[in-house]
Amino acid sequence: MPVAPPHGDPLAELVLTVLSQSTNDRNRDVAFARLRERFPSWEAVRDAPVEEIEEAIRPGGISKVKSVRIQAILRAIGDPLDLEWMCDAPIEDSRAYLCALPGVGRKTAACVLLFSHGLRDVPVDTHVSRVGTRLGLLRPNAPFEELHDAMVDLTPPGAELEFHVNLLRHGRRTCHAQRPACGACALRRMCPSRRDLQGPLR
Ligand code: SF4
Repeated sequence: MPVAPPHGDPLAELVLTVLSQSTNDRNRDVAFARLRERFPSWEAVRDAPVEEIEEAIRPGGISKVKSVRIQAILRAIGDPLDLEWMCDAPIEDSRAYLCALPGVGRKTAACVLLFSHGLRDVPVDTHVSRVGTRLGLLRPNAPFEELHDAMVDLTPPGAELEFHVNLLRHGRRTCHAQRPACGACALRRMCPSRRDLQGPLR
């Protein structure tokens, strides 16, 4: 399945990931576009009155929380406001740095590392976690830290982005949270959860 290549802008990915919380992709993208249109640089976003950030990103939802969080992250990064060094740094250092920023956890860090520079990490969101657990790849109710470590371990090097995107799409389109479409699922013969959810295969 074709996937977008790494775009090379970790700071933009970090802000985009904050904007993606508790909303859909379309509203996230509208909020991000408005932010970029209204402010000429990330320094300008950092230094603006928080109400202006909140207004710009309002289409993305919970803008009061997200505006404060975005500015806190940008201030924590300091000068220069730049994460390009991550392209060549050891991934453990980059991950630890990102996870030390305000409100940033493993999933956000993985999004930044993978989507901006194609580095070896796999974001585990609610869809990826659900599908991975049902397929028996991930331990049920494991903490997020363990889920991310396990997902990286079982992903062949070079397949991180494709694996993430495919699990995400499968969760959205077929392996729904409430009513998974096991009868139409291409993975049902290898899925240990299919009987629990839809009865045994015939
Ligand atoms: S068989 Fe059902 S539970 Fe298993 S991956 Fe497919 S849709 Fe999900």
